[in-house]
Amino acid sequence: MHNTNRVEILGVPVDMVDREQAFSIFEDIFKNAGCSMIVTPNSEIVQNASKDEELRSLIASADLIIPDGIGLVYASKVMGCPLSERVTGIDFLESIISHLAKTGESIFFFGSKPGVAEKAADKMREKYPGLQVAGAHDGYFKPEEEEQILSQIAQSGADFLCVALGAPKQERFIAKYREQLGAGGVRGAIGVGGSLDVWAGDLKR
Ligand code: UDP
Repeated sequence: MHNTNRVEILGVPVDMVDREQAFSIFEDIFKNAGCSMIVTPNSEIVQNASKDEELRSLIASADLIIPDGIGLVYASKVMGCPLSERVTGIDFLESIISHLAKTGESIFFFGSKPGVAEKAADKMREKYPGLQVAGAHDGYFKPEEEEQILSQIAQSGADFLCVALGAPKQERFIAKYREQLGAGGVRGAIGVGGSLDVWAGDLKR
């Protein structure tokens, strides 16, 4: 786990980072072997996690916990350990994508309704020429199909994985399979909610 200051909001840990610090931590953990886990909780997820020990410890097990909600920034101020700004998951993922386009490392887009991940990937490829898209898969599958999806991700050679299954399904997926993902060569995964819908043009922010 990366060594950063974590503030607890309703007992749920969040990293005390601004965008720049969050990105610098990403760069560090992305160099490591194994699959790093990045989560982007907003106030609603923190509230749910405060009443759900399994979800709380799942969030705590992430390498980077980004404060994706202005409510978290306010709450941290009241508690006397102020977060400096909200770092949205969608913007953070876009910074990662921009970085990957430069380094030539690849990303797999997983989640959302059929066709959305492919459309979002095309949009990102247009915006960030050189982006290597390793593959895409929709987020509507039966539990017995999970292994097949994991092998598809591993065989794609993806370096990074974005998982858009909604919270907390995406966090559960990453936590459950991060060892397998790491063994398959994936070095980082992020849960991003509706980001792919936004990029595909199917949803307003
Ligand atoms: N989603 C999915 N599989 C599911 C449930 C949701 O791929 O079984 C996708 C959904 O299509 C959407 C994204 O997850 O693209 C975010 O869903 P939602 O808005 O419910 O989650 P939130 O943004 O509240 O985390």
